[in-house]
Amino acid sequence: MPISNPLLMLQELPAFSKLEIADIEPAIDYKLAASRQQISTLLEQVANEPTWSNFVEPLETMADELEQLWSPISHLNGVMNSEALRTAYNNCLPKLSEYATELGQNRELYNAFYQIAQDQQFQRLSQAQRKVIDNKLRDFHLCGIDLEEAPKKRFAQISKRLAELGSQFSDHVLDATQAWSKQILDKQELAGLPEMALDSAAQAAKSRDLQGYLITLDIPSYLPVMMYCENDTLREELYVAYVTRASDQGPNAEQWDNSSLMQEILALRHESAILLGFNNYAEYSLATKMAGSTQQVIDFLEDLAHKSLPVAEADFAELEAFARGEGDKASIAAWDVAYYSEKLRQNKYAVSQEELRPYFPVARVIQGLFEVVKKLYGIEFQQQQTVDTWHCDVQFFHLLKDGQLIAKFYLDLYARENKRGGAWMADCRCRRRRADGALQLPVAFLTCNFTVPTEALPSLLTHNEVTTLFHEFGHGLHHMLTGIEVLSVSGINGVEWDAVELPSQFLENWCWEKQALALISGHYESDQALPAELLDKLIAAKNFQSGMQMVRQLEFALFDMRMHKEYQVDNPQDIQDLLQEIRNQVAVYKTPALNRFQHSFNHVFAGGYAAGYYSYKWAEVLSADAFSLFEENGVFDITTGQRFLVEILQKGGSEEAMQLFVNYRGREPRVDALLRHSGIVS
Ligand code: ZN
Repeated sequence: MPISNPLLMLQELPAFSKLEIADIEPAIDYKLAASRQQISTLLEQVANEPTWSNFVEPLETMADELEQLWSPISHLNGVMNSEALRTAYNNCLPKLSEYATELGQNRELYNAFYQIAQDQQFQRLSQAQRKVIDNKLRDFHLCGIDLEEAPKKRFAQISKRLAELGSQFSDHVLDATQAWSKQILDKQELAGLPEMALDSAAQAAKSRDLQGYLITLDIPSYLPVMMYCENDTLREELYVAYVTRASDQGPNAEQWDNSSLMQEILALRHESAILLGFNNYAEYSLATKMAGSTQQVIDFLEDLAHKSLPVAEADFAELEAFARGEGDKASIAAWDVAYYSEKLRQNKYAVSQEELRPYFPVARVIQGLFEVVKKLYGIEFQQQQTVDTWHCDVQFFHLLKDGQLIAKFYLDLYARENKRGGAWMADCRCRRRRADGALQLPVAFLTCNFTVPTEALPSLLTHNEVTTLFHEFGHGLHHMLTGIEVLSVSGINGVEWDAVELPSQFLENWCWEKQALALISGHYESDQALPAELLDKLIAAKNFQSGMQMVRQLEFALFDMRMHKEYQVDNPQDIQDLLQEIRNQVAVYKTPALNRFQHSFNHVFAGGYAAGYYSYKWAEVLSADAFSLFEENGVFDITTGQRFLVEILQKGGSEEAMQLFVNYRGREPRVDALLRHSGIVS
């Protein structure tokens, strides 16, 4: 009896503790069948006179209900992965993709939207509603509505297959990451590793009933070894394991090899783009983005490379000279870069990421983050204790404005087994006005992978991790502070992909401001704020190696864009060769031949960043330029905060990102602020 399936009951928040994996597939099957039925009934009813309220509104409700069913499942697949859940999840993906394509290729639906767009009523709709209809019409074309029967079917097949392939790709990365670990019995082998990382490694060993220390490929374990371990043999071994994950190289070579998946993904993306009349997948990707053309993107990236390369080369020359001075290193290997960089940073600025940790206990940082947001936008936060979650570490908060509840979010802070690495924000519920007149409030999932607290220590963050938290919270605010009441353009929905990183990168700026750091920091023992002397050093060190960081991001972005733009059916370029060509152009040090970075490049092969990785840099121009108004008016200037809230955050996807930016800044974006902030120009 699918109707008794608890997953199908609409609730204010998902009942995580009652979620049974066995219910997932039947629930999705039932929901999709019911939705198909509803759509055909709807089309009959509105036959000649579709309007927003009799047609678009019910479709939005259906989309919302499906989203409410799927988002907790998709979220759990990321944070509480298990064999059974993964199977259920992967079984549902092609069904969902099939349904989405079916809707996107439904001629009657298209005609109804078209009719509304042509009708007089269109001009009476709100800006947000008009944007929904414009987007829908565009998306019908991008889903193959204009195609003949055979290519239309082929397009649908490809979409379905691509959804499966992306999921397999990231499963391989997760499996390969978890498959490798190294037990170390002799503490001497870990000389240089900070106390906190040692504690975590000991705890990791203990949790698997092992003696000594356990090093894994999770970032909180991997990074400290690469930055601090004097033992370069260990660093090399770890580096090799990490950069060969899910590939034909390294300790687990060919076991979760993504090579053939990548070929198939590229070929199918290209084929689908050609079917729609584009020259390549990169063009298809840009059809929904802010950037005008693939050439404009490449020019943008190459121009940044041109400006940054001399700075990056100087960074690396300095590093090499330093390493030579430190000992017997004639040249620096890839696994030495982080190690000597950290030493050089300490040497130059007398400040290390580890030294800062005690000042950033996670609870304090979060309180500080809340205070920053309160100063900027007048939002207050309240923690709630009795909410049903998926793990005892998860916290839950309410957001209030003028005493009124406006949004909620889950916060899942710590790294653990079966949780995907990295940090991200996802939506659980979107803000929208329901047909019954009630306002549905937005709910967000915020996920990080910070060091687990131990018996002796709370979770202490590096400044990098603080910045990550602010970044994801910036996405969260975009989702939660939206003022839009129409689902498809509410919060992050409908925002051009290359503008999505604007609110997130924007919020990072406060991690570097003295007034804000006073709020964010407090020594975990003494509660003393970050001392002025350390603060000055931290800020002085901000642009340490920023040239090197810039060209690294440009390498990824150019690789992604050119891989999709230059794909040729008869002569598929070797992915490794292309990456090498780009490295020759923009990298400042040599990458070992066995490096298979691309095999774990989830963003591009399994996420939404295909032919879109440049978005980070593109949006950084926007975010740096947006922040420069605060530099002019004061970092806690209420009027400027209000302006950003009203013109950008609240507007969601209801207008084009360029228009919103111009409304906020009074002009189009300029690259100057980014170059200045990252120390490329002074
Ligand atoms: Zn982001």
